[in-house]
Amino acid sequence: MFSAPSIALYIHIPFCETKCPYCDFNTYSQIEPLMPGYVVALIREIELWGDLLNHPTVRTVFFGGGTPSYLPSQDISQIMQSANRSFKIETEAEVTLESNPGDFTSDKLTTYLESGINRLSIGVQTFDDQLLGVLGRRHTAQDAVDAYRMAQDAGFDNISIDLMYGLPDQTLEGWKSTLKKALELQPPHISMYCLTLEEGTPFEAWVRLGKMSDPNPDLAADMYEATQDTMRDAGYRHYEISNWALEGLESRHNLIYWRTEPYIGVGPGAHSYLGDTRFANLKQPREYISRLTNAADGKFDLDNVNLDDLKMIIDIVPVVDTTEHIDRRLAMAETLMMGLRLDDGISIPDFNARFNQTPNEAYESIIADLTNLGLLKTSNDRLFLTPRGRILGNEVFSRFFE
Ligand code: SF4
Repeated sequence: MFSAPSIALYIHIPFCETKCPYCDFNTYSQIEPLMPGYVVALIREIELWGDLLNHPTVRTVFFGGGTPSYLPSQDISQIMQSANRSFKIETEAEVTLESNPGDFTSDKLTTYLESGINRLSIGVQTFDDQLLGVLGRRHTAQDAVDAYRMAQDAGFDNISIDLMYGLPDQTLEGWKSTLKKALELQPPHISMYCLTLEEGTPFEAWVRLGKMSDPNPDLAADMYEATQDTMRDAGYRHYEISNWALEGLESRHNLIYWRTEPYIGVGPGAHSYLGDTRFANLKQPREYISRLTNAADGKFDLDNVNLDDLKMIIDIVPVVDTTEHIDRRLAMAETLMMGLRLDDGISIPDFNARFNQTPNEAYESIIADLTNLGLLKTSNDRLFLTPRGRILGNEVFSRFFE
């Protein structure tokens, strides 16, 4: 049997009440009638993976989307039950659910806790009501504060909030004020992302047609620098380029991605990484439901599948759409790109144990160049980005793919 070591489990919920004009995630509004069928299909995919991988240990579960909190909480509970039947979810596993302020009720939060969810990630984005309107969000700044307090009152103590900066017409002072309001809540974890104009989104078209002002990258860089100072003074560890946490409360699920460790993603468009293969599910929810519902009426004949063979395993999952073989060279470059996002960077002995070569042996001249430019540093058997390297991260990472 293909031996899957302990893994992370990502569960995609592709529903949103409305589609935000900057978002290019695989998520849809106005397909609510699909929800019941979707939950059945998702459970079938979870159970199939459990059987194919012989019920491996799961260290973290992450409900992402989309808006998982938009799905009825009883559905989340059913999905968690199927994950528990199909995998050995560690007792201490981190189980996160992404949510929108405004979706919470105390009953919903109680159901989450009873289902095993122990971490919430709340999409606050900004505490500026005018900018929330620009972003097409349906909540107000006060809704976000109320949601945070309601989650705390229900018993959640591990809460992350998401914020965005570099927004159209956002000033440095406006961003600092959002940051201050966020810190007043004292969340254990904050993710902060710079707005990027994704192709095909209304935001990108509005900027291209001159209907919306172009975000200013210099101002965004000033915001990022101000953020680093403020967060350090507030006692947060800047453990990843876009993420800050109180000590010990880093996102364990995302650390698995950044350390290029194995994970399974279920749901439309979800990605997985097992062995030397990365693969992705088809994106359309209707097609996803239909393939899992129609395939042998939901029963999969595994008798003729060689469960030692990862390719055969992947082939039997009717919703896998693309697979990519990650050869050693690509795996090394990706390990550097992902690991260097972390403040403690890459462990050189771990890299050597995995690839039988140190980063320096594999990328001698590139690492020498980047070190001379003051972007990379080696210390205590670790390779990591300097503060300047963090600002120019993408330029650094691209060098390993040359
Ligand atoms: S709520 Fe989140 S996932 Fe949904 S459309 Fe808005 S940004 Fe995208």
